[in-house]
Amino acid sequence: MTQGGARWPRRLRSGGLDRTTGRDARRANVAAGRALAATLRTTLGPAGRDKLLVGTDGLAVVTNDGASILDRMEIEHPAASLLYEVASEQAERVGDGTTTAVLLAGALLEGAEGLFEQGVHPGIVTAGYHHACSRALETLSTLTLGDDPTDRATLVSVARTAITGKWSEPEATRVADLAADAVLAVSDGSEVDRHRITLQGVPGGSPGDAEFVDGLVVDMGESSATADDRAIHLPRRFADARIALVDAPLGAKQANATRAVTVEGTDGLDAIAAHEERQLREQLERIADAGTDAVFCQQAIDDVLRSRLARRGILAVERTRQDEMYKLARATGGTLVASVEELTPEALGRAGVVERRRVAGRDLTVVRGNPDSKQVSLLLRGGTQHAIDETRRLVEDCLTVVTLALLYGDLLPGGGATEAELAADLRGFALEFDGREQLAIEAAAGALETVPRTLAENAGASPIDALADLRASHDRGEVTAGIDAADGSVADVSARGVVEPLAVKRRAIAGATEAANLLLRIDDVVAARDGDARGHDHDHDHGIGGDHGGGQRGGYPWAIGH
Ligand code: ADP
Ligand code: MG
Repeated sequence: MTQGGARWPRRLRSGGLDRTTGRDARRANVAAGRALAATLRTTLGPAGRDKLLVGTDGLAVVTNDGASILDRMEIEHPAASLLYEVASEQAERVGDGTTTAVLLAGALLEGAEGLFEQGVHPGIVTAGYHHACSRALETLSTLTLGDDPTDRATLVSVARTAITGKWSEPEATRVADLAADAVLAVSDGSEVDRHRITLQGVPGGSPGDAEFVDGLVVDMGESSATADDRAIHLPRRFADARIALVDAPLGAKQANATRAVTVEGTDGLDAIAAHEERQLREQLERIADAGTDAVFCQQAIDDVLRSRLARRGILAVERTRQDEMYKLARATGGTLVASVEELTPEALGRAGVVERRRVAGRDLTVVRGNPDSKQVSLLLRGGTQHAIDETRRLVEDCLTVVTLALLYGDLLPGGGATEAELAADLRGFALEFDGREQLAIEAAAGALETVPRTLAENAGASPIDALADLRASHDRGEVTAGIDAADGSVADVSARGVVEPLAVKRRAIAGATEAANLLLRIDDVVAARDGDARGHDHDHDHGIGGDHGGGQRGGYPWAIGH
């Protein structure tokens, strides 16, 4: 008898499986997808409400950012995690539109459910959604606005649209301004080198206290070079500075730290002291002779050496992070050497200015003014490390949307205006199809309107009235009519600077359709049951819409399409 043991996972062989098939599987998937979308509903748009998220570590975060919320949720159902994938792709690639993508997918699933009840076959629904998506993507590019994307004010608007509602108005405006400045500073018109923008967190203050710094900011952290009286020997500013980059501990003690030394008598001690002193002096001379103004060390620097360097007017920064070392090398043209012995004048980098600054009780070193390698930094502020991390991710989103806007130029009106226009177009387009597929395309149009409907609802307006007004405006040809987030009324949103890059909308629509269609095609969900090897028949003891199909932690979910 052939043993199939090698081919099958233990759990499958043992028959310890949860299996949901046909309509039940589809219903469970639709329910899970809709449930995930429902959790984000109230957060959409500038008037979206905050959520208080408490992690398993007990740490609490308040946010209404779709991507942050999803990242902190424990998502177990395979259908829901599929939507999560769409959302994280969205956030990663285009920096915005996460909530939109999830809401859209949820609305498509809801529409499908309605169609199933009318007896429309899943295959017809997915085909209709597919047509609707292709049509919408084509239409999108005809709706772009004429704004000049190289104009700073336009870029600030794009950044603001991506983050309004995440902070207070002045804070969001400040961050949007900084993001636009940072991207413009490192752009040469055809390329934006994101690596030349450094985000440096400085605890304390609020997001609105963020600062733009021309140059590369290195956090000196606990480095005590400026923290004590030795610093008085050090200038705060070095013009036309030469910079050493060393990846080795500096100072005699560190160099010997790993060696066990047997000491016999005081002569031995003296000999060691003399040896250490000699090493120290050699390192000091080597650094000074090369012409160094500032040395950045990836490891620790001995206190005595640092003190002597300071007396010679040389700034010594220890424990510089590796990524910062690489940035310094790139910014200054210097070479990262593995030991002080390798330090030659040629290995030194150059910078117009190296400056020590103190921000909120923190010592920072700013390196700038190498015309070949423009570097800028944003100092991000926040009351806690969590708040700074949250700010960092929103600033990264801003940088991404501003970059997209600057490089590709195509902008679309936000505030649900684009979705409303696409929906109107799709309703006309649907007439070209036969009965059932027509219904599916109309359902896709309705799903797109979830965006303006939800924006209106979150702004406290009647979603039915707002949608009726909005449709009427679009019927009159007012392509940029959207929802004014202040009161939920209909307004020309693009005139108010609510604009988004085309790529954000394109990805949201394509990603949501793809995910919804994938879920709708699945008609068999098989999940291994943890620790159950008895193998009896479970077919009759599961309900509908529950969390089977991957609900068990550590199980292996399989999703099988027809
Ligand atoms: P999130 O960033 O939370 O994931 P999205 O970016 O998907 O959410 O959606 C935010 C929605 O809010 C977009 O449709 C955007 O156009 C809209 N929006 C942003 N600012 C305004 C505003 N000032 N007025 C109206 N709508 C706005
Ligand atoms: Mg957004």
